[in-house]
Amino acid sequence: MTRIVVDFDRCEGHGLCEQTAPEVFRLNDEGELHLRRDQVDTEHEGLVAAAVRVCPVAALKVQP
Ligand code: SF4
Repeated sequence: MTRIVVDFDRCEGHGLCEQTAPEVFRLNDEGELHLRRDQVDTEHEGLVAAAVRVCPVAALKVQP
C-alpha cells in the first residue's frame, strides 16, 4: 500500500489532482483539498502517480 502525503502549505487548489484521480482527491466548495482515502490500493496507484505528476506546485508525494 502506498500512502499519499499532501503539503497543504503548497497546495493552491488548482484541482488537477481531482480531475486526474477523483476517486482519491476532492476539492470542497472553498477549494480546499481533501483525501477520500490516504492509503492507495494497487488499483489506484497509477492514477495517484499521475496526479502527483500533474500537480503544478508539487504538493503531492507518495510514500511506500
Ligand atoms: S493539483 Fe496540487 S495544487 Fe492543485 S489541488 Fe491538487 S494538490 Fe493542490
